[in-house]
Amino acid sequence: MNPWIAKAVVLAGTLVMIAIRAPHGHRSRSVKVARSRKTPLETGLLVLAWIGFFVPLIWLASPVFSFAEYPLHLGPLVVGVMCFVIGLWLFFRSHADLGTNWSITLEVREQHRLITQGVYRRIRHPMYLALVLYSVGHALVIPNWVAGPSNFIAFTILFALRVRAEEKMMLDEFGDEYAAYTARTKRLVPGVW
Ligand code: SAH
Repeated sequence: MNPWIAKAVVLAGTLVMIAIRAPHGHRSRSVKVARSRKTPLETGLLVLAWIGFFVPLIWLASPVFSFAEYPLHLGPLVVGVMCFVIGLWLFFRSHADLGTNWSITLEVREQHRLITQGVYRRIRHPMYLALVLYSVGHALVIPNWVAGPSNFIAFTILFALRVRAEEKMMLDEFGDEYAAYTARTKRLVPGVW
């Protein structure tokens, strides 16, 4: 299949993701940060996430990764598009539910509320699940061994090294309320883990 189909899908997915995130990034700047746990590790993880995000865009716009190309097939393309659609829907919903409580890093905002409703009712990290789906979508849609898995590798490392610190921060902030929320929910997959 023509790799331009994959390029069009990745471009569309990226634009939708930016359109979902941009207003929240803008709005969150207007809500003061009360407590921050942005460690050097967190900064490193954010840099890694940006690299994971940009490598597919470099593949889109230039031939630098052409040595790692392989043929595009219909099956992975269709499943990848489904991952994109579900992932982006969940990304939109989790932003809508978190509202001004969202931060790109480990921060508690002024008048921070613990959200336990909407897509947060059964799992504690729906936005991270959305990003897993989105990055699996990249790996399936992009027929390139470098650009395809870049988002997935970056995000898996970010998730693995951040999730405990984030839950500890939330527990310190919300105490019993967060402990009870943890007891009745899973991390990423409803009813499983
Ligand atoms: N881990 C969550 C949120 C990612 S954004 C998810 O995957 O959906 C990260 C920030 O969101 C954290 O710094 C924390 O301040 C905030 N946060 C995480 N879970 C929250 C919750 N249930 N309610 C309110 N804020 C939350």
